[in-house]
Amino acid sequence: MTILEEINRLDSNILLGGQARKSKATEVLDVIDPATEQKLGEIAETTTDEIDEAVEIAHAAQKKWWALSGLERSEIMHDVANRIHAMRPRLAEAMTREMGKPYKEAADEVDWCVSSIRYSAEVGRSDTGRVMGNAIEGHLNYTLKEPLGVVVSIQTFNYPLTLLSWQSGGALAAGNAVIAKPSEHTTFTTLIFAEAFEPLPAGLFQVISGAGPAGKYLVEHPDTNAIAFTGSVPTGQAIGATCGHMMKRALIEVSGNDPFIIMPSADLDITARAATFAAFMNCGQICVSAERFYVHEDIHDEFIAKMTENAKAIRIGNGLEKVDMGPMVSQKERTRYEGVLENALKQGANVVTGGGRPAEFNQGWFVEPTILSECNQSMDMFNNESFGPVAPICRISSFEEGIELANDSKYGLGANIYTRDLKEAVRATEQLQAGMVWVNAPLLDNDAGPFGGSKMSGSGRQLGPEGVEAFQETKFVMIDPDCTDTQDFWWFPYKDDESFKG
Ligand code: NAD
Repeated sequence: MTILEEINRLDSNILLGGQARKSKATEVLDVIDPATEQKLGEIAETTTDEIDEAVEIAHAAQKKWWALSGLERSEIMHDVANRIHAMRPRLAEAMTREMGKPYKEAADEVDWCVSSIRYSAEVGRSDTGRVMGNAIEGHLNYTLKEPLGVVVSIQTFNYPLTLLSWQSGGALAAGNAVIAKPSEHTTFTTLIFAEAFEPLPAGLFQVISGAGPAGKYLVEHPDTNAIAFTGSVPTGQAIGATCGHMMKRALIEVSGNDPFIIMPSADLDITARAATFAAFMNCGQICVSAERFYVHEDIHDEFIAKMTENAKAIRIGNGLEKVDMGPMVSQKERTRYEGVLENALKQGANVVTGGGRPAEFNQGWFVEPTILSECNQSMDMFNNESFGPVAPICRISSFEEGIELANDSKYGLGANIYTRDLKEAVRATEQLQAGMVWVNAPLLDNDAGPFGGSKMSGSGRQLGPEGVEAFQETKFVMIDPDCTDTQDFWWFPYKDDESFKG
């Protein structure tokens, strides 16, 4: 079966209780290939009855999952990872067709799912609590790490499988059930991906399709126990507010406006390649894309010339061909991004290269990789996420100025610096206000290290031990194994000599 036939088979499907089935929804959304503008199919705005059913199924499956041993859960998760690995070409093609990224980037993304699920599987069985020094002689005091119950993972489109794997890997390893609500742009890819989770108890991993209404209903549902969200700030705020009201655990991963500082000691050939990649990978649609470049005046012009050379060499086109950059995900996103660019030009930015749509395409939501010079901190682009392939460059005269401007932001997701000066490198790691700092290593992740933002970029962490702990409840236990001692030091009756002396 070709991927297009598979997508056709999955039209209006949801995954409930281990079975893919057509939703009863009357409302559907079109899914469009962003490179060809051809309709791929329709997804359902899942009904509230179906969501209620999914939540009930999830609770029953979670009880079976938690009843297994830690070793059994881990082995089943490794089996899921093996299956994902075997599905690599199918998943990568589906992702490219649905959201536009080059096939190589999509295939890499599948590999990251495999390694992160393997990592979570092991963390899940390594520690399930902590024994502490007892408060009373002979007693046993410890914590138990227990699952929260049903975790809802609401996803965006840019890394539809990796981000879902990070969240659901952590949640499953902690003993929870997962209900995935993919982006409306990447639902078919997620439904295919879900086949890999068949070794889990039926209903432990389910997929609900739809847009905002399905997500909102899952968040507000009294029987969902935690929300893991990746997406925009307004949606993250709305989810955070609801979860706060309901005392529901929330992991919120939202926007960034990441700085990229370049100092004179950097190797400019390597830095220009790194900067080009950090700004334009996935058509700039990455939460940790480098979006504000601060380049030291001593190397400013030379750096721009080298980065421009790299940007001009980027091959644009359908992600299924030999290209480096695909289209933006949707017409709506391209229109929004073009508005951001137009505004930067009005505010005084100068186009060094790009700035428009590539002339050779009469269909598809393509844009050129764009470098802007003469930029400054007061521009909107330096205060809000661009989420498109643009690299605005601001000239700086010192390391201190670079750090100060980098930190002058409401966001704090990632931050980059290129330098070979040890002192600058160490000071940057200490002073940059961000969840992740990359010194000469832009945009890298490590399953064993935490990923997440500070300030308005979100709260909580994915990956690392923190990414499992995010989905655990801590229960404190105190035991007197003998049960023979009276605890006279604080029980009734209180001693007279301990009463108020007057
Ligand atoms: P979005 O907020 O529009 O949608 C994200 C998801 O939320 C979708 O599945 C959508 O259907 C759902 N949704 C919409 N309204 C909802 C509601 N009221 N209640 C519950 N769910 C609702 O965001 P988007 O345009 O898909 O994502 C782009 C954003 O994602 C960018 O800002 C990017 O920076 C961010 N992002 C962040 C990270 C990170 O780890 N920090 C990673 C990738 C992307």
